[in-house]
Amino acid sequence: MAEGLLVKKDIKSLDFNELKEFMQSRGEAAFRAVQVYGWMHKKLVQSFDEMSDISKSLRNALCNECFIDSTCILRKQVSKDGTAKFLMGLNDGNKVESVLMKYKHGNSVCISTQAGCRMGCRFCASTEGGLIRNLAPSEMLGQVYEIQRTTGERVSNVILMGIGEPLDNYDNVIKFIKMLSDSNGINISQRNITLSTCGIVENILRLADEGLAITLAISLHAPSDSLRRMIMPVANKYSIKSIIDACRHYIEKTGRRVTFEYSMIKGTNDGSGHAMELVYLLKGLNCHVNLIPLNPVKGRMGSRPGAENIQKFKLILEKNHINVTIRREMGSDIDAACGQLRNKDKGGKLHENICEE
Ligand code: SAH
Repeated sequence: MAEGLLVKKDIKSLDFNELKEFMQSRGEAAFRAVQVYGWMHKKLVQSFDEMSDISKSLRNALCNECFIDSTCILRKQVSKDGTAKFLMGLNDGNKVESVLMKYKHGNSVCISTQAGCRMGCRFCASTEGGLIRNLAPSEMLGQVYEIQRTTGERVSNVILMGIGEPLDNYDNVIKFIKMLSDSNGINISQRNITLSTCGIVENILRLADEGLAITLAISLHAPSDSLRRMIMPVANKYSIKSIIDACRHYIEKTGRRVTFEYSMIKGTNDGSGHAMELVYLLKGLNCHVNLIPLNPVKGRMGSRPGAENIQKFKLILEKNHINVTIRREMGSDIDAACGQLRNKDKGGKLHENICEE
């Protein structure tokens, strides 16, 4: 690195212990870390100037050495049902999406974990331009914080189901979850956090050993490897059996029920035979199936099955004692399928797409 070139520290990506060490290394008392962490992660300020109980000289020093990530809301679309979709601007000009869903039990925010995605699922809008880059913990936190700030209402649930594959950005995602649930910060219960993955087996196994109480959701979308490979290129790398074995380990280690997401694509994975195959696959596993009627994306694979077909599929699972729900449609009038808003805004360029065969 060129001498004299100062790379500023992303202070909002430091967890509480790292911030404490950083403050101590600057000769500051440990309680300063409590204050500065609280300003960023509880009061959600975006500048050092707002930290009114910190001396001007320390604020200036921090400002010279660090930056506070300023992920911001560029655009907001509100659906008739109150669901709001946000186009978020990152510091370097990249854009991602987040969604706010209002439920009786509280406000849920769905966040993006990467700018773009390299998983290549054939029906999905988020992967069209490939992966641009991973998001930092500060950029994932920023999506939650900005939505809480703009609504003035507490976010109680966070879902990692926006653009990107969370387990392809493992370290940053784990740090984000720990910071999100830190009582020194915004303090969202891990039980109210759901991570959705297309099934990167080695990282499901790592996640099981992290000691987190989050819900794991697996994007299964097919009951057999051959069909899954037609829908999701990642299935060329991991078999369904290896994913289910990893889920079994997750259930044993965490005691938590796993969710299987099943996006229903007309004439592809929505038959009674597929439902029976799914029953055999999941029988005896502590799990729940969430059927997602496909949200068709222009230029991508598939259309949505009729409502009776979806009901019929659900009934077969129910009769065979598999817990099942149909995802309630929210915000379908505002391009609810993730990635569509960003694509409209001519988001990312084409980058790597490693899972494509
Ligand atoms: N990479 C993660 C998060 C992706 S989005 C994962 O694969 O799980 C969350 C869920 O929405 C996934 O199950 C994904 O397959 C599904 N999904 C994406 N686009 C969709 C669409 N157009 N219609 C229905 N489901 C979709």
